[in-house]
Parts: sequence; structure tokens; C-alpha cells
Amino acid sequence: MPDAARALAEIKQKIAAAAKAEMRAPQPVTLIAVTKTFGEAVIRPVLDAGHRDFGENRVQEAQGKWPGLRAAYPDVTLHLIGPLQTNKAADAVALFDVIHSLDRSKLAAKLKTEMEKSGRSPRLFVQVNTGEEDQKAGVLPHAADGFVRKCREEFGLTIKGLMCIPPLDDDPAPHFALLAKIAERNGLAGLSMGMSADFELAVRLGATHLRVGSAIFGPRGAP
Ligand SMILES: *Cc1c(COP(=O)(O)O)cnc(C)c1O
Repeated sequence: MPDAARALAEIKQKIAAAAKAEMRAPQPVTLIAVTKTFGEAVIRPVLDAGHRDFGENRVQEAQGKWPGLRAAYPDVTLHLIGPLQTNKAADAVALFDVIHSLDRSKLAAKLKTEMEKSGRSPRLFVQVNTGEEDQKAGVLPHAADGFVRKCREEFGLTIKGLMCIPPLDDDPAPHFALLAKIAERNGLAGLSMGMSADFELAVRLGATHLRVGSAIFGPRGAP
């Protein structure tokens, strides 16, 4: 079995074990294989191994590789996990099945317009900047309830869940717990949290969507 497919299988076992270690009924977990910077030759073996959820962080990069792969594997679910510029919203709605980075009213309005125009309705996650980092996208935690309400009431959008990327040097646990708390009080079932370094912890704290790149495909930018 190719390396990435074997790594993926091992990660799936770890996810199942982490979910089982929880006392409560384990939630269903979607493992998103993050393929940014990786080309078709790396991605195809994972598709051939049966995996179908993939994540990209840039619209343009995804446009370059996924339409072709999609034609060969029509049941792929493609997730946009990176920041989305308003002028790329139409392209994102056309290509992606799930958008994890909704974080401002202007983008919500634009997505609504493009969804009506195209008849496509990608599932939407609101990104929360749980670490309140200046350089990071996402609504601030104190603004999250209001933003979710606005998306629903003003823009008529269905919000599936919340997404966060904890600060690099922080313990991710309080960030995952905060995201789960905000989701619960807003009646949101989806929790997109957990990456290569912390996906088991994320599962234990209720993640429904894990975004894992380097643990499957190796370091990015490697030859
Ligand atoms: C790249 C990326 C990931 C995956 O990171 P790894 O540490 O390689 O697992 C997850 N989420 C987002 C938003 C990313 O950009």
C-alpha cells in the first residue's frame, strides 16, 4: 500500500480508538485529508484506497487539480478550509461542497447570492478566532453568537457548525472546548477542529470534522 494510504488507515484506527475512549456515544467523525501543495500523483493513491473527503486552503490551487480528479471520482467531497475572499466566492460555491471559513457579513451575503445563482449549496461552517490572534481569520468568540444569528436571520443561511485553528504555541484543549461551548449554545452540531498534531484530542472534545494534512502526506514542500 502506498505510504499516504497506509498513514490514512492508521489515523482512522486512532480516531476510532479516541472516539471509543470517550464515555459518551461517539459522534460520527469525518476525516478530511488536506491536500494543499500536493499534486495528483500523491492524491490518487488515497482516492484509490477509497477515501473521499479532501481539503484545500486556496480556491485557485483547488481549481487547478480537483476538476480533473472529480471527473474520475465523482463522489468526492471537497472542503475549503482556508480564508475565502469575496471575489472568489462564486468559484468556491461552484467547486466546494463544504466551506469552513465563513467569518464576515460581506462574505455571507455574497455566498447567499452565489448559492441562489448557481443552485449549489455548500455546507457552511463559521470560523471562530478562538485565540483572538490579529493575523488569523475568524469571528472573535464574543461576536460568534451574533454572527451565527445574523447568518441565519439576515442572510437565510443554514450554518452546519464552527471551525477553529488554535494558536500554534497554545495548548489546543481550551480552544476546542470553547468552540464546542459556542456551538452547543447556538444549536450547531458540526465541530471542525483538530489537525495532524492534535486530532485525537479533538475527537475526545467532540470534533466532527478533522483536517489532517502532514500526518497523511508527509511534510509539505518536501521533494
Ligand atoms: C494545512 C491546514 C491543515 C492541516 O494541517 P496539518 O498540520 O498538516 O495536519 C488544517 N487546517 C487548515 C485550515 C490548514 O490550512
